[in-house]
Amino acid sequence: MLLDQLARPLRSLRLSVTDRCNLRCAYCMPEPDYVWLPRAELCDFGELAELAALFAGLGVDRIRLTGGEPLLRRDVPALVALLAARLVAERRGAAPLPGERAGRPELALTTNGILLAEQARALRAAGLDRLTVSLDTLRPERFAALTRRDAHRAVLGGIEAARAAGFGAPGDEALKLDMVVMRGVNDDEVVPMLDFARELRAELRFIEYMDVGGATRWRGDAVVSRAELLVAVGRRLGVPEPLAGRGSAPAERFRLPSGQVFGIVASTTTPFCLACDRARLTADGMLFLCLYASRGVDLKTPLRRGVPRAELAALLATTWGARAARGAEERLAESERAPLVPASQLRKNPHLEMHKRGG
Ligand code: SAM
Ligand code: SF4
Repeated sequence: MLLDQLARPLRSLRLSVTDRCNLRCAYCMPEPDYVWLPRAELCDFGELAELAALFAGLGVDRIRLTGGEPLLRRDVPALVALLAARLVAERRGAAPLPGERAGRPELALTTNGILLAEQARALRAAGLDRLTVSLDTLRPERFAALTRRDAHRAVLGGIEAARAAGFGAPGDEALKLDMVVMRGVNDDEVVPMLDFARELRAELRFIEYMDVGGATRWRGDAVVSRAELLVAVGRRLGVPEPLAGRGSAPAERFRLPSGQVFGIVASTTTPFCLACDRARLTADGMLFLCLYASRGVDLKTPLRRGVPRAELAALLATTWGARAARGAEERLAESERAPLVPASQLRKNPHLEMHKRGG
């Protein structure tokens, strides 16, 4: 097993397939315009599959496709099918890893849901194991104000299609909803969202508003903390009981007296850096070791130049071995907390954006 400087294994990969997005969520892309990665620089499907296989060969057993909005990339189901086949071939004959499914790393995807209605069935058929849909509000007019696009109905249709395609079948955890909670924006919907998720048999996760690159309007007083969320939920629905066995998962999970389970990702007020086993790859093949990291390592250029596989694996192993990142914990220790990167700097170095690194 590959360990970093803090003895954290490399187990999970967030693979961004595009930096483009069809929404402009206030906490992620609040600026009027953005600098996109040149199309010629994006890894093609074959390159993404080779890079994913490189990670799987070094112990990664969970891969999540993300973006930008991943479903904006043309024919993502074909990418899922290619990944599934390539990863099975990569892992054939190796000792199984805990998170693997069907002889390969688990394949998941995080989406804003707008294009899901037309793709859910094909994604499931291609081998996608899990799906997370980001949904911050049940109110169409609030959705439009928060995302700058009137697409609430499309997202709800996408969630319905996902369920019909088999994500979130009874007893299965394959469908999740992620809600970034912001004070004065949607914090009055914490309980209605739990009701919505229960009816859908999806697991809701509350995400604390983070001061990552891209969040150029971030303010500490807009963060609704884990502690506040637990009080708000407990007051209406009874005391949530913490569930054991979180492992390296970013979400702490809780069970309500009704039996409903939900999660909280408290990266802002209660970071979990010491358990973080996650690498991030941008759509142009840059490896980042932390959401807050300012520099990445280019894996696509050596891959395109035909550098032998063993050398690429050694580069990845050395990079992970030198990792000491504790970005969220370091941010917590800062006395004056403001947006991580000013908008002007993000334009000069767009790789710092959240929508480049996949959240
Ligand atoms: N476009 C897809 C989506 O929205 O699900 C995938 C990419 S998005 C960057 C991944 C996740 O990051 C989303 O759940 C989004 O809510 C979250 N996110 C973006 N900016 C955030 C911020 N400032 N704080 C907390 N979560 C954030
Ligand atoms: Fe787009 Fe997702 Fe960022 Fe919203 S959170 S702007 S949907 S990448």
